Amino acid sequence: MNKLVVLGSVNADHVLQVASFPRPGETLLGHSYAVIPGGKGANQAVAAARLGADIAFIACVGDDSFGANMITEFGRDGINTQAVMVEQDTPTGIAMIQVAATGENSICISAEANACLTPERLAPHSKLIEQADTLLMQLETPIATITQAAKIANQAGTRVVLNPAPAQPLSDELLAVVDLITPNETEAELLTGIKVTDMASAQVAANALHAKGISEVMITLGSQGVWISKAGTGKQVKGFRVDAVDTTAAGDTFNGGLLAGLQAGLVLDDAIRFAHAAAAISVTRVGAQTSIPTKAEVDAFLA
Ligand code: ADP
Repeated sequence: MNKLVVLGSVNADHVLQVASFPRPGETLLGHSYAVIPGGKGANQAVAAARLGADIAFIACVGDDSFGANMITEFGRDGINTQAVMVEQDTPTGIAMIQVAATGENSICISAEANACLTPERLAPHSKLIEQADTLLMQLETPIATITQAAKIANQAGTRVVLNPAPAQPLSDELLAVVDLITPNETEAELLTGIKVTDMASAQVAANALHAKGISEVMITLGSQGVWISKAGTGKQVKGFRVDAVDTTAAGDTFNGGLLAGLQAGLVLDDAIRFAHAAAAISVTRVGAQTSIPTKAEVDAFLA
């Protein structure tokens, strides 16, 4: 059995570079088309594995070549894929991403096989969750399943970590069984109604999340690092200064790195520093899973 279980999405990111975004009815020439492995669940699973965690992944892929390749790649990264299910007659989840010359993104996502991760599909894998130390989830798979998995974990004494991305409202029923939540500023605002503009407002937002029953809150602040709050007392842990090229999967790398660091026995501040280093390296590289470093690279960065 694996100490960390990640439950979440797998996406093929179809990325096209464009001079500017096409208007309705317009056809433009793009260039440098690439299909890059993505999906917040897969990104976090890969990050945790590359950064040293003992991990199993619960997910659904389609019965296409991308899905089959991903299962092979997850295995190469050392992930237990026994609960990565292949859905018949269904494509793997996709994101259609246009990147303009300005660096701006325009993204359209379709859940496809990710929508098949229903509570029924989860049921045969509940033992993986019950026997793990920690369950890590995001919000690109059905919320009913996320809520079910969180309850299974909660009853078994498995710690529930939720990265509430992409931003969407969540039920009190789900939040009540979350032990650690890791929103970015936008997600924290959507969940609490409090705009996070500085450290004081970060603590106010954290307090609103504590009031929902969540004992530990970590609000990621991009290049500013994170605001961590436990029992109403918070502090900032700064990140590393790097030349950012592409911040895709920064949050995913942070989440995977944090849990890998904690699993390795680091105290919280050191685990955050390890996660910051991993995420800082990832923003200097292009793409989602293509940008996630290994533990050896992070150790060298911190040396
Ligand atoms: P998300 O990608 O979910 O929006 P953030 O932008 O808050 O998350 O970033 C998550 C983490 O990634 C930060 O806490 C930090 O460790 C790292 N990070 C993000 N942007 C930068 C940056 N420009 N320079 C260095 N580290 C960064």
